[in-house]
Amino acid sequence: MTDSTYRIHGATGEWEVVIGLEVHAQISTRAKLFSGASTEFGAEPNSQVSLVDAAMPGMLPVPNRECIRQAVRTGMALEARINPWSRFDRKNYFYADLPQGYQISQLYHPIVGEGEIEILLDDKDEGSAKTVGIERIHIEQDAGKLMHDQHPSFSYVDLNRSGVALMEIVSKPDMRSPEEAGAYVRKLRSILRYVGSCDGNMEQGSMRADVNVSVRKPGGELGTRTETKNVNSVRFIMAAIEYEANRQVDVLEGGGKIVQETRLFDPDKIETRSLRSKEEAHDYRYFPDPDLLPVELSDDFLIECRSSLPELPDAKRRRYENSLGLSPYNATVLTAEVETARWFEALLAGLGVTSAPAEPGAGAWTPASAEDQDKAKRAANWLLSDLFGALNRLGRSIEDSPVSPAQAAELLGLVADGTLSGTLGKQVFEIMLETGGDPAKIVEERGLKQTSDTGAIEKVIAEVLAANPDKVAEYRSGKDKLFGFFVGQTMRAMAGKGNPQVINDLLKKALA
Ligand code: ADP
Ligand code: MG
Repeated sequence: MTDSTYRIHGATGEWEVVIGLEVHAQISTRAKLFSGASTEFGAEPNSQVSLVDAAMPGMLPVPNRECIRQAVRTGMALEARINPWSRFDRKNYFYADLPQGYQISQLYHPIVGEGEIEILLDDKDEGSAKTVGIERIHIEQDAGKLMHDQHPSFSYVDLNRSGVALMEIVSKPDMRSPEEAGAYVRKLRSILRYVGSCDGNMEQGSMRADVNVSVRKPGGELGTRTETKNVNSVRFIMAAIEYEANRQVDVLEGGGKIVQETRLFDPDKIETRSLRSKEEAHDYRYFPDPDLLPVELSDDFLIECRSSLPELPDAKRRRYENSLGLSPYNATVLTAEVETARWFEALLAGLGVTSAPAEPGAGAWTPASAEDQDKAKRAANWLLSDLFGALNRLGRSIEDSPVSPAQAAELLGLVADGTLSGTLGKQVFEIMLETGGDPAKIVEERGLKQTSDTGAIEKVIAEVLAANPDKVAEYRSGKDKLFGFFVGQTMRAMAGKGNPQVINDLLKKALA
């Protein structure tokens, strides 16, 4: 087991950091939590605000069943306890972006209880796995957004986000380093995107974290924590932890005390600053929302939620390793993003590879046939090097790859059956990227077929040897390294279309 604890060496000895994250994830639904207004990102300010979201008197919230369903499915994906009975509470406070004067949330009876997430601290090594506990997931409303910088003397409010459904996913204080927190957020994001309950778009604010940090002497009692609010990228979360842990050690070693407080992260200065201390903290006067009935989940509903879950990244990764024989690293990279896994599996289908997910709970996979494993390994290598390389160059994501999985399968098939050499395969792929289109047709039209015709190859070899008598003499007197030169010359004379294996064999014979 790798020890990835982040330690700070202070004047009074060693300190370790303790981290717990509260991640707010916007639930991917078209409508808001308690109204039918749209949740689409990027609309004109205040164009997606119903009377409920604007908190007009007498308006009544009506829960969106799909929001509940997505929170339950998320809980199931995190192996969490699902509470068949939960309730909404009012959290009362005043702020200009909150016209209701309270946020509807779930304090006392959240919909999801304890669960867990497994993180890998090293992509290549199952042995580096660590489990981070989930405390709970509850559903709540998002607030609106204030804009202060549009005009020197005015503040504006945009209520488009007001009433959008969030899941708050609260971890246990189980993380011990910025890297662990980063791995946790990336894994959580991956799972949410597989489930389809959140698009994970951190730039658009679909996922943001409140970062709780404390320090302690190794093995000691938990220290007092601070909470840095609304950090919106993995990099910033890690930076906030590092800054905050070091700040706390400095305060403690200087004889000071850590006060439990809310802080904000300044992404320009890469530092945290105090926002308000616990003494100034609000008394939210939580109470059950009288406008809403408790949420009761039927067995049928729960069964549907569970049966609609896809194969999740951990299960997929293990299947790729155990059934398809992929390396741990390739399996991890191919399963990290749901779109990559989807593309890879479409490619496997095009190649006729079969590998079924394990039955739930069975925990074992039937190995694919040796032939299928071979195809899968080639497909994985091709995708991770050739396709990813090309997409990187083009600045495109895999969803809008100019080459489809079916076309890629055809290309790999042409290489596997010897129609194309590896080099020709790459050449055809480049043409496919530029012009799109079917690889077999490109091969046909441009005459790119590899030739294994021994007669034709022997003829070219004879010409190459005749044109280089001095080199032939050198080779025959022991300069073996020249062999590569002859291969190169023959290849070039055949415009890259000679079968390299056949050229090798025939050259050896001719030079002997
Ligand atoms: P609150 O409801 O006041 O926010 P919680 O007990 O629910 O407090 O904790 C909120 C978050 O803070 C959780 O993610 C938890 O893991 C984390 N946390 C609690 N205690 C500590 C601590 N001493 N150090 C770091 N994180 C902590
Ligand atoms: Mg909190």
